[in-house]
Amino acid sequence: MAENPGKGIWCVAELRHGALVPTIFELLSAARSLDQVSKEGVCAVVLGGPGKTAPAAKEIASRGAQRVFVLEHALLDGFLEEAYARALKDLIEREKPSKILLPASVAGRSLAARLAVACRAGLLGDVTAVALDSSGNLEALRPCYGGNLLATVAVRRGLQMATVRPMAFPRAAQASSSGEVVAAPVDPSSWGLRGRFAGFAPEESKEIDLSSAEKIVSGGRGLGSAKGFELIRDLAHALGAAVGASRAVVDSGWIAYRHQVGLTGRAVRPKLYVACGISGQVQHLAGMSSSDVIVAINSDPQCPMMKLANFAVQGDLHQIIPAVVAEIKKQRG
Ligand SMILES: Cc1cc2nc3c(=O)[nH]c(=O)nc-3n(C[C@H](O)[C@H](O)[C@H](O)COP(=O)(O)OP(=O)(O)OC[C@H]3O[C@@H](n4cnc5c(N)ncnc54)[C@H](O)[C@@H]3O)c2cc1C
Repeated sequence: MAENPGKGIWCVAELRHGALVPTIFELLSAARSLDQVSKEGVCAVVLGGPGKTAPAAKEIASRGAQRVFVLEHALLDGFLEEAYARALKDLIEREKPSKILLPASVAGRSLAARLAVACRAGLLGDVTAVALDSSGNLEALRPCYGGNLLATVAVRRGLQMATVRPMAFPRAAQASSSGEVVAAPVDPSSWGLRGRFAGFAPEESKEIDLSSAEKIVSGGRGLGSAKGFELIRDLAHALGAAVGASRAVVDSGWIAYRHQVGLTGRAVRPKLYVACGISGQVQHLAGMSSSDVIVAINSDPQCPMMKLANFAVQGDLHQIIPAVVAEIKKQRG
């Protein structure tokens, strides 16, 4: 790893099929907390195809990034890890930041790993909290062994990078003044890319996306069978909520993996989380315990989810959920 880490805390934004993924605002919160100590300044980087980054860059600049570097090129139009890493490496060599945060998403993790090797940087993976040690080096907390252990990990020299778990930080609010958007040059002549972005075929789904949902109704083994998810969908539909699930029911094949909430599923932070027939094991709680309001429906009043919930409803979910749905429909006329 090179000495002389440079100056500035950077956050790398993710554009998913042209839309800005809001994890960048969580990275900005994390970076600003570090900047309160180091006073290095917070910058962001957004990559995309020609003419595709302007709204995202403007939004990021209004949420506390002092400078937003824009890297635009036809080769950056779709997420091609190799091209993104080369474009970022060129910018890093020119601007010399000291620390870089990326989202611990599928794209963010693979990009971070390739970038860290290319820049000979130290990388802290999948962290949930960040801080600086007494010498100003990056330290972070990383959950291990199914969330049962929190390890403190650190990089002590060179360029310091981390991938930050989605929902680990609150989203940065609008700042009092907007930062500067800087178009940075992109020259792929020396990249020698071996891959190319072939295309994207979206999955056809009318469901509300779990990761950005403000309300989630989740089902667990207490549903009894895959058919039990009809109840969950009814309640989700009545509330305008997304459908979540525990790993037990995903592993049983009752519902697709994309619905799984928890350590090995999605981390969510909705305003309302309704847990139906979910016991609340630590691996499930790891993905949803920061929800604003938690409602648990469970026959066991002693299970961890009932103890955690703001509202605990004891009983058989097969009776309670239809009654709640009927009441919502009645209230709405
Ligand atoms: C490395 C690792 C990673 C994991 N990652 C995840 C993860 O990401 N997400 C996750 O969810 N799990 C994860 N797990 C699994 C986790 O430990 C639990 O096994 C799982 O969450 C249990 O799911 P559950 O609550 O649906 O089932 P159970 O624990 O079986 O709970 C079922 C609940 O339903 C209630 N119930 C039963 N009948 C009724 C009824 N008629 N009405 C109302 N309530 C009823 C019961 O009282 C009980 O509380 C992971 C485990 C490991 C080891």
